[in-house]
Amino acid sequence: MPLTRILQKAAAGGRLSFADAKRLYREADLFTLAGLAQKKRFHLNPERTVTYAVDRNINYTNICQSRCRFCAFFRPNGHPEAYVLAKGALERKLQETRRLGGTHILFQGGLNPALDLEWHEEQIQTIRSHGLHVHGYSPPEILFFARQSGSTVSRVLRRLMRAGLGSIPGGGAEILVDRVRKTVSPKKATSRQWLSVMETAHGLGLPTTATMMFGHKERPVDRLVHLFRLRRLQDATGGFTAFILWPYQSGNRTLAARRTGAVPYLRLLALSRLVLDNFPHIQASWVTMGPAIGQTALHFGADDLGSTMIEENVVAAAGVSHRIQEEEMVRLIEKAGYAARKRDVLYQRVA
Ligand code: SF4
Repeated sequence: MPLTRILQKAAAGGRLSFADAKRLYREADLFTLAGLAQKKRFHLNPERTVTYAVDRNINYTNICQSRCRFCAFFRPNGHPEAYVLAKGALERKLQETRRLGGTHILFQGGLNPALDLEWHEEQIQTIRSHGLHVHGYSPPEILFFARQSGSTVSRVLRRLMRAGLGSIPGGGAEILVDRVRKTVSPKKATSRQWLSVMETAHGLGLPTTATMMFGHKERPVDRLVHLFRLRRLQDATGGFTAFILWPYQSGNRTLAARRTGAVPYLRLLALSRLVLDNFPHIQASWVTMGPAIGQTALHFGADDLGSTMIEENVVAAAGVSHRIQEEEMVRLIEKAGYAARKRDVLYQRVA
């Protein structure tokens, strides 16, 4: 289809085919993509508001068997910097999060065989006892627990839900194309396994987010395959709340890549808003791109600026560390021309 017809179709709110998206990504100029993405954004979220959350990332261990080539965070067992978070340290982090108005904990860690499912149930119960929602355990962790305990994904999820797990983060997706995964994270879940954990979670009533980490070994077409796989699953389950796009941070020399600039990030973000027409929210990533590009992303289809992140370790391990307070988050949103609204992890408004 000629580009002009695809542009008309997108402007009229029509669903993009794979071929349409491919052509738009290759040929449409940056501001045309921005205009179309904003149209879709306001169709789905008509208010001129941008949401944000106050939460904390807690990484319960950095010991990990998976040893993904892009990961600057993990340490082998026995390494002087290897850790498992102690109960007292967890309690202190939770108390501080409550004091700062946090609503939830993003709880993730390495694939550490020394920690069994009972240990994880206890952590969830501890977080819940502080009145905080647990947004925890990405699909590779869930698969690891199932393998480790000789159980199924569904049984593991049901046990964690009984302990208080409220939703699942979309980490570990990287690029949902196995050729790429074999290069960047050969020991981690396959694309089918990642999608299948999410499908099972949605079937059990657990909402999840979805992510993409791009800018390493994938081709542009792989990014599109990733988006269309997410869209297909969302058509079937409706369980994804939001999509979060991250450029790879090349802080770890085992996987060298050129740093992603603002324009490639904004182009793909706008395209994501257009392709993922069944995702209610698209998040801007100020943590990886910095506050100014995060703000700009609010004019390229994103309707959420993520969270203040009282603590963040994984991106910081790759040498990228941007920190902001809640007041600064509100100021960034207002300066970008929107009213700021605090939300919880399920995108409900928080007073
Ligand atoms: S990205 Fe996650 S699974 Fe991969 S090595 Fe790092 S901690 Fe382990």
